Amino acid sequence: MTVRTPKLERMKAVKRIAPIVAATTLIGCSGGSGVGTQTSRAQNESMLTSAASKSSDDGGSSPRANASELSATDSPMPSASTSASSNPVSSGEPTMTGPTIKIGVKFDQPGLGLKVGSTATGFDVDVATYVAGKLGYAPNQIEFIQVPSRQRENVLQSGMVKMVVATYSITDKRLSVIDMAGPYFNAGQSVLVRTNGPISTASDLVGHTVCSVRGSTAFGKLAQRVPGLTAKEFDTYSACVVALADGSISAMTTDDTILRGYANQSQYRGNFKLIGGTITNERYGIGIKKGDVETCRKINGALRSMVADGSWERFVRKNLGDPALFKAGANPPVDLETCH
Ligand code: GLU
Repeated sequence: MTVRTPKLERMKAVKRIAPIVAATTLIGCSGGSGVGTQTSRAQNESMLTSAASKSSDDGGSSPRANASELSATDSPMPSASTSASSNPVSSGEPTMTGPTIKIGVKFDQPGLGLKVGSTATGFDVDVATYVAGKLGYAPNQIEFIQVPSRQRENVLQSGMVKMVVATYSITDKRLSVIDMAGPYFNAGQSVLVRTNGPISTASDLVGHTVCSVRGSTAFGKLAQRVPGLTAKEFDTYSACVVALADGSISAMTTDDTILRGYANQSQYRGNFKLIGGTITNERYGIGIKKGDVETCRKINGALRSMVADGSWERFVRKNLGDPALFKAGANPPVDLETCH
């Protein structure tokens, strides 16, 4: 397989992936990824879920988002032809022959989508490779392209990629512009803080600055439950982790899968903890172009096979750890989206 970084993200990705690439990704380990004591978890859950009924599917927008950060990330998408000529990363695998498929993944999320050297790794990458196989593409016919959260709909609409497999929750707002097959995993939104920082329960978050990324569902959903939050939004979660580690922010929020991945990196192990349990159900789907019913049906068929033949469980254990760590009872998902 080949991995490719779109032009606009190239410089940022090089900077941000560097500390991650050397890291181990033993997501299932207990060290550094605890979710607090039973008591504090119960308290936090009740606070965080109290306003759950007000939640919209996409989390809303930040009332106090940092304007300069937001505008700094507001660059246009690269076109398909621009990215096709941009900085391909050699995979070291045999040169591609025959048809190829371009798939959007994350490059900076340990355990999910992570570029290690010239290879893309992680649960989403394994799912994408399996599904592509069922669509008739061998691993050396797959080109992985880095797609940060805010670019996911754009790369599908422009045709730059055929699929996006990138911790991509199925939401009504997204389904209005693209289609999604799946889900293939149920995650839940949580909060990551420094073990020795000022925050140990969800109620301590009030008035603090919380990091997330533009184009994700995360900050808005937390802001609906915790008053007085200020958003610090970057393009990638790996930038949030750096800011959390250096103390410039107090907390970051996104899916528990992603947060556990960072907490278990060797350079951070023991430094971070998850608080507040999980406040949402994030149904990870595979994004495709709107109206591509045939591909949607084929993907759902592939996802069913992936569960039935044991590949799903193997991919989870290899990349994320014990499936029971995540939305126990809800995985693997059984009710898939209808393709129409
Ligand atoms: N699953 C959430 C979303 O799709 C957060 C993770 C992400 O940004 O990739 O927005």
